Amino acid sequence: MSTSTTRPTAPEPVAPAPTTPDAWRDLLDDWDDIRNGYHLGEADEAVLQCVHRLDADPTGPDALLWTLGLVTLVPYVAAAAPGPGVEARTAEVLSVVARAHGDRMCEHEKHPFEPYEDDLDTQLEELPSALSALISQEAEVPDEYAPGHWHCPRNIAGFARAALSYLTM
Ligand SMILES: [Zn+2]
Repeated sequence: MSTSTTRPTAPEPVAPAPTTPDAWRDLLDDWDDIRNGYHLGEADEAVLQCVHRLDADPTGPDALLWTLGLVTLVPYVAAAAPGPGVEARTAEVLSVVARAHGDRMCEHEKHPFEPYEDDLDTQLEELPSALSALISQEAEVPDEYAPGHWHCPRNIAGFARAALSYLTM
């Protein structure tokens, strides 16, 4: 008898991870188009790409970007009836990310994720410019936080929790 996991099946294969800032920017544009309802044909694929990448490496160097991808895409997942298993897998991997990062210590008094806990939909208007700066590895993102502060494990965990509570509210 096989002992392999029997997760709900998802479309395969998953698109490779971007390797250049331009490729990340294309992906970011796709995420934002899905959020705005322009790109629903490949929406599940985009969600599952984030899920797979985080599942494979929840604390890797791109964990922040993939988590922010799911933050951008949860309004679609919550409202637009994605394919079988997509919502469950999204919630599952967000829990993994929150647990993997959540109990680290840091010296920050507050984090970029905090306003997203209260009103994710409104805050998402601000996210593309911050994401674009993070992708370009600019010295300053267009808010009060430096890139290293965005990459703080507690910030990544906070974004994962905010997206999870959006899904389950
Ligand atoms: Zn921190």
